Amino acid sequence: MSPIVTTVSATHAADSAEHRHSNTFLRLKKKLERNVGEAIGDYNMIGDGDTVMVCISGGKDSYTLLSCLLALRERAPVDFRIVAMNLDQKQPGFPDDVLPAYFESIGVEYRIVAEDTYSIVKDKIPEGKTTCSLCSRLRRGIIYRTAREIGATRIALGHHRDDMLETLFLNMFFGGKIKAMPPKLVSDDGQHVVIRPLAYCTEADITRFARTMAFPIIPCNLCGSQENAQRKQIKAMLQSWAREFPGRIESLATALQNVVPSHLADRKLFDFVNVDQSTKLDEGDIAFDRESLPAVPKQIFPLFPDA
Ligand code: SF4
Repeated sequence: MSPIVTTVSATHAADSAEHRHSNTFLRLKKKLERNVGEAIGDYNMIGDGDTVMVCISGGKDSYTLLSCLLALRERAPVDFRIVAMNLDQKQPGFPDDVLPAYFESIGVEYRIVAEDTYSIVKDKIPEGKTTCSLCSRLRRGIIYRTAREIGATRIALGHHRDDMLETLFLNMFFGGKIKAMPPKLVSDDGQHVVIRPLAYCTEADITRFARTMAFPIIPCNLCGSQENAQRKQIKAMLQSWAREFPGRIESLATALQNVVPSHLADRKLFDFVNVDQSTKLDEGDIAFDRESLPAVPKQIFPLFPDA
């Protein structure tokens, strides 16, 4: 194994293997699979006959996504194909033997695409300027092309609940928009449906799962780019809320699914201009009431009943 991969010591590997049979780990695995199953069901992410191309970066999130999808497919009442896909962007030190070896070891169909977007980005973007937007544009084009080549009807990405909340606050704090990351979207050209089956999974659960599974993690900073400072700030804010105010993050995540346009102020979403005595409001007239704020518990998902 290449030295750049997060090395798993022999002791850690043995501990992890032992842990994989512990009740605590089996409960965690079941919880993640249930969360993924619920998200798939709630948003109708995968149906019979779909080909799901799962984008694998070599990070904990995408390994966890692949693992949950493979486990769910075993007991799903629908039949779908999974193809793991990795884009090798030729970043310096990228260990290109790790993912093929891992995919072979678990017996999943896979496609590795090698394209030197790293050199293009370095060429086009002046030193010191942020490279992420060109890099992700190039990556998106290659991912869509590969999806077409393998006949994928769904492209699965490993973003989780906490990524979605961070994006919500990034957009509110720095972009003047209430906008997060959707669990399901269609590409601008209308050809691809992108899904985020980890939408209900917490980063903490994924981290614990990935550690015990001892996935061969590939570091995400090979391009030399630093994590966005604003995102770091938001992450720290959410983490401190999670510590200080139990339940707040869960309530925020629930809020993403309970938007009341008539109680915001966006004239494109709700026709405030024509509000009159005949207008019915979604949540009724609460102009003079105190807010009552129950956090709505998540509902159950029917497609993978045993998850
Ligand atoms: S962090 Fe690096 S690899 Fe990721 S989008 Fe930015 S430039 Fe590309």
